[in-house]
Amino acid sequence: MAAPSTSILWFRRDLRLNDHPALLAAVDAAAHVLPVFVLDPRLLDKDTPRTRRLLASVAALSKATRGALVVRRGDPVDVIPRLAGQVGAQQVHVSRETTPYGRRRDEAVEKALADDGRELVATGTPYAVGPGRIVNQSGSPYKVFTPFSKAWHQHGRPAPAARPKRIPWLRDDVHSDPIPEAPAGLEAGEAAALKRWEAFLHDGLTAYDEERDRPDLDTTSRLSAPLKYGEIHPRTILADIAAHSAGRSQAANTYVTELIWREFYADVLWHQPDSAWHDLRGELAKLPYDSGSETDRLVDAWREGRTGYPIVDAGMRQLLEEGWMHNRVRMITASFLTKDLHVWWPVGAQHFLDHLIDGDIASNNHGWQWVAGTGTDASPYFRVFNPVTQGRKFDPDGDYVRRWVPELRHLPGSAAHEPWKHDNGYDELYPHPVVDHDDERKETLARYERARR
Ligand code: FAD
Repeated sequence: MAAPSTSILWFRRDLRLNDHPALLAAVDAAAHVLPVFVLDPRLLDKDTPRTRRLLASVAALSKATRGALVVRRGDPVDVIPRLAGQVGAQQVHVSRETTPYGRRRDEAVEKALADDGRELVATGTPYAVGPGRIVNQSGSPYKVFTPFSKAWHQHGRPAPAARPKRIPWLRDDVHSDPIPEAPAGLEAGEAAALKRWEAFLHDGLTAYDEERDRPDLDTTSRLSAPLKYGEIHPRTILADIAAHSAGRSQAANTYVTELIWREFYADVLWHQPDSAWHDLRGELAKLPYDSGSETDRLVDAWREGRTGYPIVDAGMRQLLEEGWMHNRVRMITASFLTKDLHVWWPVGAQHFLDHLIDGDIASNNHGWQWVAGTGTDASPYFRVFNPVTQGRKFDPDGDYVRRWVPELRHLPGSAAHEPWKHDNGYDELYPHPVVDHDDERKETLARYERARR
């Protein structure tokens, strides 16, 4: 029999034990806490780098709870109320979910629990300032980043939540399904996230401002996956930055601004759930895109890193191999698909979600819209990234390209960005450019002009 006073803590995008307000609420509410993770087929039906990374994180959480974590496979709307009934929990505690699917799911679970006289209690969110909290003076959400960012700074945020001194996990004999095994060697879990963050804070942050745009240097924090799964909360990061000697540096400000982009996109999605897969800027819905077998062939070349544009191909191959891509290269590759190949951004957004370990519906799909020009930027339609000048500027010695595109390793320095300029450029059978960038740029600008009229 379960203890008479048990609360459930249902983990989702908060796979940690530090700075966890919902954990504190669950501990306060009952003598025992049953930690639960649901293997929801809706989220786990595809075997992707993202789902593997998630499962590795769940395994780390299970260890951190010393095996108390109960894992159940099934629809949360069935699983959670059944478990609550089984252990006699009056309350199920969660961190509030803010994505369209998460919100719908939680509403259904809340209703099912209420039908049995139980409660879903949401405390905190995966963000420093919860989506929906920041509005302008007339009570409307912000549509562009800079004013949102100013308001975000003014809004203030709570300090990190203390870890409970003792967490009274329920250790009854509650059945737990096995956690599907993730590939060995995947870095995951709270301890690894904190270690990575501390190393970056002490050794990486000061150079961030100058070097963050350089894919060849690998000098960003690589915390996107830990943040995605809530292995570390941005509140912790922000508090550590404020307490650190470099906290007031330009580098620290720039890093905080990147975290605010994450908060901004979550806020946009909160206010406009449809923007996950539809153009935010309605007037551009008329923009014509290419399709058909020739386009399919070009999209395949893009997916496989065979466009003939070295920085694009390096990025796409890094994505396939590492499940991660540098931010600058995400922009260049997204621009290439939407503006050189004239393909609607959801095609690329889906490919990224299928391959990124940090794939996040808010940051990914709004990042894509930002590049495509249909999103939150004020007048971005004329921004078409030139893959050659971008490559030469941000990978000046060609090291990033040579790392991911072995066919270009015989070209020294920045020559790797322009094999067509060198007699031996194609000795190793690298493809020629699949389209002419200058022509496609003109075509894109003409299409945007027509659509805006
Ligand atoms: P750092 O430079 O160290 O930044 C620190 C953190 O700030 C990141 O971990 C991330 O949480 C946040 N951040 C940084 N840049 C952005 C940004 N532009 N938008 C939102 N948050 C940001 N980020 C994701 O987390 N998941 C995605 O699925 C995703 N898809 C993207 C798709 C496109 C087309 C573009 C242009 C950007 C996308 N980003 C996404 C944002 C960004 O590229 C990654 O967050 C970043 O590359 C992750 O590396 P990092 O942790 O080393 O970043």
